[in-house]
Amino acid sequence: MKNSSACLHPVSLVGAGPGDPELLTLQALKRLQAAELILCDDLVDARVLALAHPAARVLRVGKRGGCVSTEQSFIHELMIREARAGRRVLRLKGGDPFVFGRGAEEVDALRAAGLSVEVLPGITAGIAAPASIGIPVTDRRHAPGVAFVTGHSRPELGQDAGPAGPDWAALARSGLSLVIYMGLSRIEDTVAALCAGGMAGATPAAVIAAAHTPQQRQAVCTLESLATTVREQGLASPAIIVIGTVVLQAHAGASGLPLDLQPDSLGKPLGEPLVELQRSLRQA
Ligand code: SAH
Repeated sequence: MKNSSACLHPVSLVGAGPGDPELLTLQALKRLQAAELILCDDLVDARVLALAHPAARVLRVGKRGGCVSTEQSFIHELMIREARAGRRVLRLKGGDPFVFGRGAEEVDALRAAGLSVEVLPGITAGIAAPASIGIPVTDRRHAPGVAFVTGHSRPELGQDAGPAGPDWAALARSGLSLVIYMGLSRIEDTVAALCAGGMAGATPAAVIAAAHTPQQRQAVCTLESLATTVREQGLASPAIIVIGTVVLQAHAGASGLPLDLQPDSLGKPLGEPLVELQRSLRQA
């Protein structure tokens, strides 16, 4: 061991934000420039990693659904071993490390090993993706709040897949805007569950894929046309789904990113579906 535990560096668990390196915090940038070992998720943008110290070792320990992923226990062991050897270890996660990122599990493992940990928040995709097209996650004129939920739980698989998924019927009744992470693979089931719970099929919905990256694409539709829209427009993970009338606040060019208005992606300018939605909601 190079150092006694008293002078080991704390392991930094850092949020890398949604993609664009300009959305990193200054603290995240400082830790990136100082780190000797960086363990990062697949979702971390290459432009962010380019800011690391040139001598840093970078290991991708991805966890993308359906792909080969690194065992969580291996990630814990590696961080513990390297931190105990006195190295500056940076665990870099897309968005915010404590939002659907297993950050808490990693903090527990590091603390159980007697190491200290610092957690530096990042801008989570559930806020940054909607904002990129002008959708506020809260707007008191639309809803009393917002629920951030995963659309990926597999309750039928039992304990191995983690706790049961969200209570969609309760969410449908809650009046909250919904921001769904990892929601594309089970979108049909989610829509069916929300409708069965009493949410109107005409409720506005938006999908924002690869937000704050050059590959960003988005679509605005209704709850009942959500699955078809995703399929027809070929929208792919990573994507955030927003459901609720806050979606009506969407506007073109909100993020400074040019909105992709090509027929093969959005189909038509954002304004058109919004006008249609507003008209149909007034009539409802
Ligand atoms: N800790 C991350 C979330 C990890 S879960 C955060 O705070 O943002 C992974 C999910 O996040 C993806 O399936 C997708 O739903 C969402 N996501 C992450 N980056 C995204 C991006 N750039 N655009 C849209 N959704 C994104």
